[in-house]
Amino acid sequence: MNELVILGATGSIGRNTLEIAEKFPDRFRVRALTGKDNFDLLAEQVARFSPDIAVVYDENGAGILQKKLPAGCRTRILCGDEGYAAAATHPDATMVVSAMVGGAGLLPTLAAIEAGKDIALANKETLVMAGSLVMAAATVAGVRILPVDSEHSAIFQCIAGNHVKDLEKIVLTASGGPFLGRDASGFADITVADALAHPTWQMGAKITIDSATMMNKGLEVIEAMHLFGMPPGAIEVLIHPQSIVHSMVAFRDGSVIAQMGIPDMKGAIAHALSYPERLPIGIEPPDFAAIGRLDFQAPDFAKFPCIKLAYRACEAGGTMPAVLNAANEIAVAFFLEKKIGFDRIPRLIEETMHRHRIVSEPALEEILSADRWARRTARQIVETTGGKETE
Ligand code: NDP
Ligand code: MG
Repeated sequence: MNELVILGATGSIGRNTLEIAEKFPDRFRVRALTGKDNFDLLAEQVARFSPDIAVVYDENGAGILQKKLPAGCRTRILCGDEGYAAAATHPDATMVVSAMVGGAGLLPTLAAIEAGKDIALANKETLVMAGSLVMAAATVAGVRILPVDSEHSAIFQCIAGNHVKDLEKIVLTASGGPFLGRDASGFADITVADALAHPTWQMGAKITIDSATMMNKGLEVIEAMHLFGMPPGAIEVLIHPQSIVHSMVAFRDGSVIAQMGIPDMKGAIAHALSYPERLPIGIEPPDFAAIGRLDFQAPDFAKFPCIKLAYRACEAGGTMPAVLNAANEIAVAFFLEKKIGFDRIPRLIEETMHRHRIVSEPALEEILSADRWARRTARQIVETTGGKETE
């Protein structure tokens, strides 16, 4: 029996995870669920899965959730950092699904690793911010970090049975997002609704905007670097609009292995939950005759500068990837609040990175401090320039 904790249960990955858990009750038991603002859904999930613990962001939220639960409900309601840590380290849990969005995922994921839980990792920001520390903690604790991000799940599957020393290159595929065919001169006019309309994947708002700017792929380069121990120069981004090839690896004999499937996150989630077994989750293989063709093209770095910013951040190292991540979170939040235009997102990140003084080989507290600094700095830049930071 896999005893699950789901951090971010009310989100897109969390909901898909619970659908899988519900389908295989003889394999999975849900021990703890966490959310933030979606109390109705969390209350419904508590009623369906009867976890020992449910966690929300603050005491006010805990009161709201409690009122939505029936009298006699035995689930303990906790809140805040302590509550998230209690869920992540639940004594009976065997696996923690890390699916909060953003930097908020780092501390609970690290707490889960230190408590010896296997991790099904969706929260890529954890590795972007503190990949070296997190991977080292996993080695010390002897826990597995099983990727949920579809590209990394694909790479993990492609590498299986091979020697990592024979691996020459990782090819991360990207749909290219909704603006692949749009001229960059029109980027200032992109609306929030345009950017939220992803062509192939159904995801939460933050990662959907990251996909539109292609920062998502940049974050994934850093994630892959840590998960697979590859230098950024050996990780290539390739546009593949159909999202059928989820990623590929090239070996030193020129052979390439790709993992394919229809774009449905349940495939990668179920793989992480049941590894090394595979579950009959009701997804059919792609109908290649109907699809007809698979297209590939090189990314346009001038049009999508966020990818290059991410490469620059991992080459700079130290606290810079955490700064990239934090500035991106602020930029995306401001765009969603209509305070800055779509074209300003990479500029705000770049300006924040430009002002940062890197701390090399940072300890956790230095990473958290860089994260706070970058959020504050990015906000100040927008306040003082009205979002027109580098013109
Ligand atoms: P969603 O926005 O759909 O869900 C985010 C979850 O995190 C919700 O449960 C939300 O609670 C909770 N949450 C938000 N902010 C906080 C906070 N400050 N503290 C605690 N909990 C918080 O995101 P996704 O499911 O799309 O993505 C989750 C993670 O997985 C991200 O890191 C993303 O990059 C990654 N990922 C997602 C993929 C996808 O297909 N969706 C694919 C690959 C990776 P509430 O809703 O109750 O407010
Ligand atoms: Mg991905």
